[in-house]
Amino acid sequence: MKTLIVYAHPEPTSFTAALKDAAVRAVESAGHAAVVSDLYAEKFNPVAGRHDFLTVADAARFHYQTEQAFASRNRGFAPDIRREQDRLADAGLLILVFPLWWGGVPAILKGWFDRVCAYGFAYADGKRFENGYLRGRRALCAITTGGTAARFSADGSYGEMRHVMHGVRRCMLEYLGLEVADPFVAYAAPRVDQARRIEYLRDWEGRIAGVLNDGEWTARCSQPDQRLAQLQRNDMGEAGWSQPR
Ligand code: FAD
Repeated sequence: MKTLIVYAHPEPTSFTAALKDAAVRAVESAGHAAVVSDLYAEKFNPVAGRHDFLTVADAARFHYQTEQAFASRNRGFAPDIRREQDRLADAGLLILVFPLWWGGVPAILKGWFDRVCAYGFAYADGKRFENGYLRGRRALCAITTGGTAARFSADGSYGEMRHVMHGVRRCMLEYLGLEVADPFVAYAAPRVDQARRIEYLRDWEGRIAGVLNDGEWTARCSQPDQRLAQLQRNDMGEAGWSQPR
């Protein structure tokens, strides 16, 4: 089974980069293949627009989801989006590795969702949450923060991480049908000492091994790439596409 690691940090010597490298090690040690989308290094453009498409559904008025639906049906996505969609379609496990910026994902990663997880490719009417196209696959986030764990407690200034990350978990990952494991958080990555950071890396590798060795899930998750293509054909194929809501 392939794992797609979508990594969003501009600095290769950052601690977030070390978590990405640790993820690759852990996946490969478990005998699986890891593919990395290094968004900054690959200069991924996070800004949505007409350039997302080779096709045009409506030249008079740009309605993003309508263009996405049309492109899904007509192989009309631009090459950078198609490449990321192929990587996602191929992966049984999606790992996001990013620093917490303004209480959420960095803009480049948000743009990856906007452009890659397109209507008709990653979701459609009636194909969300438990009926989502990506059901049977899992997602796991590794997050670095500047704030200490205390700041992310119930009484802390940011509030609990499950509340901070609610939008990412529910409105992005679970929306697509993914089963979402609790995030791994390296709190206060720049403030803790070196020994703690090394411990973070070891714990993170352990978390990935735990997810990949979950036998129940592995049994449920069979041939995800073929199934995704089949589902999309059923929904977006001969019957045509509908105006998204
Ligand atoms: P780095 O500073 O790159 O690394 C930390 C330390 O780890 C460095 O000393 C580095 O040398 C060391 N290191 C690197 N590799 C290794 C290794 N292999 N082993 C051991 N040590 C290593 N924080 C919040 O809490 N909430 C927010 O809302 C928030 N918003 C932000 C918004 C913006 C725009 C920005 C820029 C920052 C924000 N921050 C916020 C802070 C941010 O989350 C942290 O600075 C970031 O997560 C720290 O991770 P890093 O990878 O950048 O750390």
